[in-house]
Amino acid sequence: MLDTASLINLLAQPQKIVITTHHKPDGDAMGSSLGLYNYLIQLGHHATVITPTDYPEFLSWMPGNGDVVIYTDNIAQADELIAHASLIFCLDFNALGRINEMGEKVGASAAYKVMIDHHLEPADFDDYRYWDINACATAQLVYSFIVNVLDNKKLVNADVATCLYTGIMTDSASFRLPNTTSAVHRIVADLIDLGAVNWRIHELVYNNSSENRVRFLGHCLVNRLEVYNDYNTAVIAVNHQDLEDFDVVTGDTEGVVNYALSISNVRLAAFIVERKDKIKLSLRSKGEFPANDICKKYFNGGGHRNAAGGTSTDSLEQVINQFKLILPKYKNLLIQ
Ligand code: 5GP
Ligand code: MN
Repeated sequence: MLDTASLINLLAQPQKIVITTHHKPDGDAMGSSLGLYNYLIQLGHHATVITPTDYPEFLSWMPGNGDVVIYTDNIAQADELIAHASLIFCLDFNALGRINEMGEKVGASAAYKVMIDHHLEPADFDDYRYWDINACATAQLVYSFIVNVLDNKKLVNADVATCLYTGIMTDSASFRLPNTTSAVHRIVADLIDLGAVNWRIHELVYNNSSENRVRFLGHCLVNRLEVYNDYNTAVIAVNHQDLEDFDVVTGDTEGVVNYALSISNVRLAAFIVERKDKIKLSLRSKGEFPANDICKKYFNGGGHRNAAGGTSTDSLEQVINQFKLILPKYKNLLIQ
């Protein structure tokens, strides 16, 4: 275990630091990791962000991106960094299974592990925890960790601010989820004052798609969307052939589920995709409906109430049928 004073002491001397985040990193995973990275390098630490897998093009512009090590592309280098680190920051996840085969290496490293996260039910692998499920993004927690715990707001420069803004913007679905409190808006205002160019970040994340991606979205909405009005639920299920037909690459499926949720009566939306090795589900909900409950109980997953995910090794057809059979169990919450 590490107390706050000891962590501050450690960070007063240059350390070998690894920052890692969950596989298939999203905007908060990359934004919080690179935000912390851009903070730590100013203090002379040797810090490296290692992602378990690749991540989308539209997240590959943030300051420090060129120094990120993708584990699956550089296993030997990454293993070495993990084994020799004195500190490992674990951002935006709270169980080692979320970082795939890297989990074993991180678990075996003698480094102190610092968890900064906002997901439910953290596993017990960390030495220091900065954790709050009410935070709208891990990037929000990284901001308050730097400003309130480390008392170092002066090092929140434009690079740090840009990354943290990106994390908060993406995880709050552009400041629209219920956890986007006035406190979050004050942090975001601070980040703009500190150099985050908000309109430019929106452009880089949301207006940065390939033509294929937009056409794939059209295909999903015209040919793959099913609405079960009896249960106020919408599903978009895509098979492997769809992914091939539209040359779908990492990140192209991100956000598709939100279009299903945008239908006025829909309270629960699912995007179900047939990946090479498994079926991946992305669930989104409105209001009190617990999307994470379905993922946890039926699909080996979890997440937040309004945004959760899971996987299955069954066939796409089986998963769609299973999902439909689950809906009656939640009828009271879906039909109000
Ligand atoms: P997405 O649908 O964007 O993949 O994930 C939405 C949310 O659910 C994210 O907060 C993510 O961390 C969480 N999530 C997605 N997949 C899984 C999973 O397999 N296990 C757990 N525990 N959480 C997941
Ligand atoms: Mn997050």
